[in-house]
Amino acid sequence: MNQNEKPQILIIDDAPMNILILARMLSDEYEVLQTTGGKEGIAMAGTKQPDLIFLDIEMPEMDGYEVCSALKANRITADIPVIIMTAHSDQESEVQALELGAVDFISRPPVPAIVRARTRTHVTLKRQADALRLLSNTDALTGMSNRRHFLEHAELELVRMRRNERALAILMIDIDRFKMINDTYGHAKGDLALQTLAWVAQRELRQIDIIGRIGGEEFAVLLPETQQPGAMLVAERLRIAIEGSSVEFAALNPDIPKLPDFTVSIGLTIALKADQNFSACLARADAALYQAKKEGRNRVCIADLPQV
Ligand SMILES: [Mg+2]
Repeated sequence: MNQNEKPQILIIDDAPMNILILARMLSDEYEVLQTTGGKEGIAMAGTKQPDLIFLDIEMPEMDGYEVCSALKANRITADIPVIIMTAHSDQESEVQALELGAVDFISRPPVPAIVRARTRTHVTLKRQADALRLLSNTDALTGMSNRRHFLEHAELELVRMRRNERALAILMIDIDRFKMINDTYGHAKGDLALQTLAWVAQRELRQIDIIGRIGGEEFAVLLPETQQPGAMLVAERLRIAIEGSSVEFAALNPDIPKLPDFTVSIGLTIALKADQNFSACLARADAALYQAKKEGRNRVCIADLPQV
């Protein structure tokens, strides 16, 4: 979600007239999405990631309480604030809605000034929460996922790969002689090497690949839907690109003092059915990385797979 775009509001209500009334109050300041079905609403919330949802309680098939529970139970939609709309103004339905995770409650007929004021409040809070989450998941120096966020993501990806019986490859990347770079050229050059690596990796990897900085000069990459030969190609491409990156960086940034040449060693493995958790994959990639270092650095090594 772009922080500068008009915030998106999703209205879920089985009565088109109710949608129209709310949409009129909001369409100047917000992009309004709408649907008359609870199931469709849940799907739209997942794909569109709106900033706020107005949800009708009284709907056929799936009522608002059920829709709200489903939204809150799914991690993709759990953080989207929900305002419940209802014809009743009794405390009991209000309490029930709030207990299910709704942030607010508006009874019909809606008062335009109140709808706008509450919308503004909840959209602002949502955007602040998003910004904080992004910050807490990101490594400040490289802009990549930090260790905690990467490992969380990796664990989910492993589960997803298993469920769909898809391939998943893992790379562990470590800058060669990083301590020497820091000691000889200073920490600013060491930081620049890390940033250059991040910049090259972002360019060389595919959109679906996930990279994180998991240690000082250590990075890990998830390559979904990728078997060992494909992962080997990606790893080699990355290694070669990084080897030539300081020259490339210097050409693009003539004002910044040149970075010494640096290389990386890469350990590669694929996820196996027998892997209990992501730590098992990571340990294998790490062993392959150690092998790459031992064989002389600036190379990719593939992990030995356990016999099953
Ligand atoms: Mg209704």
